[in-house]
Amino acid sequence: MRNHKALRYQMSPLNSVWALGSVAAQPLHRGAGVLQPLGRDAQLGPSHAAGRKPPLLVLVLGETGRSGNFGLNGYDRDTTPALARLDVASLRNVWSCGTSTAASVPCMFSHLGREAYGAREHDAENLLDVLQHAGLAVLWIDNQSGCKGVCERVPHVSTSAGTDPMLCPDGSCQDMVMLQGLEQRIAALPAERRARGVVVVMHQMGSHGPAYSKRSPPQAKRFLPECTSAQLQDCSPQALVNAYDNSIAYTDQFLAATVGWLQRQTEASTAMVYLADHGESLGENNLYLHGLPYAVAPDVQKRVPWITWLSADWQRRSGVHTACLRQQADVRRSHDDWFHSVLGLLDVHTSVYRPEHDIYAACAPG
Ligand SMILES: [Zn+2]
Repeated sequence: MRNHKALRYQMSPLNSVWALGSVAAQPLHRGAGVLQPLGRDAQLGPSHAAGRKPPLLVLVLGETGRSGNFGLNGYDRDTTPALARLDVASLRNVWSCGTSTAASVPCMFSHLGREAYGAREHDAENLLDVLQHAGLAVLWIDNQSGCKGVCERVPHVSTSAGTDPMLCPDGSCQDMVMLQGLEQRIAALPAERRARGVVVVMHQMGSHGPAYSKRSPPQAKRFLPECTSAQLQDCSPQALVNAYDNSIAYTDQFLAATVGWLQRQTEASTAMVYLADHGESLGENNLYLHGLPYAVAPDVQKRVPWITWLSADWQRRSGVHTACLRQQADVRRSHDDWFHSVLGLLDVHTSVYRPEHDIYAACAPG
């Protein structure tokens, strides 16, 4: 058995849980708690000229999003009809940093990228700190198990203990809860920062397993029958996929509702970017859930959706057009590009920005 390490992970759902535990056991912090400053030179670029609407960017941090199960990405089931009606660009060839939330989220918001992040000796400030150094208002809304340390120095709020009887029926809340009272949450951020621009991160419950059926409300279920057991191997393969796909269809509704909310914020120039933290195994080769060591994890645990919606005003001010982004759909990209792409999209200038890791730079003028 010791000589067949890969085999060991293929035996039962229990092994997936074991692997998840081993990833989570890696120390979250390095460098004796001393945090290295990052991007203290950050400044807003020329697109922020006086007289223009300030940017309002929503970053949706997806949970357990499997790229191939998005209709936008060519899935043979239409799991994303609402997004398909919007002017969005979806990248189909994006690879995660880790195979679990705890591994991926801090890595995504780091400037280092996967390899350097894994080898780092010290922790550093992250993307949210750099945005704050540039003078922007930043807010993290968490409908998940927390931000894994990345939101510690920016205003943050958890919605997962909500009491709305429709959205929070059984101890956790569906993602639409993050849109409730959002205007008031933003209005509570410092006024001088809001005047320069606002970045809101929404950390989804998304498709978090194994209870996929709890991730979509009854009226949103389009694929039946669905698996309602947390013992995934007790369900038929089709019922398991149905439950998972219903959670993607609900994410589709949530993302479209977020775009709808942004379209009503007429005082700002608006955009939304969605990127998931890792994928999921749905029983292929008897593998379930996620969290296998990166080297042996199947592609479905590592391939993630990256979807961008830019308002017409944002496209004008940035020169980045959705039609151009769509032509990049099959270019190989990764979580290594998240930090730099968000800086580029917001026209934040800093010495830590690397244009070769900015997926939007390929579509920017000049
Ligand atoms: Zn996750």
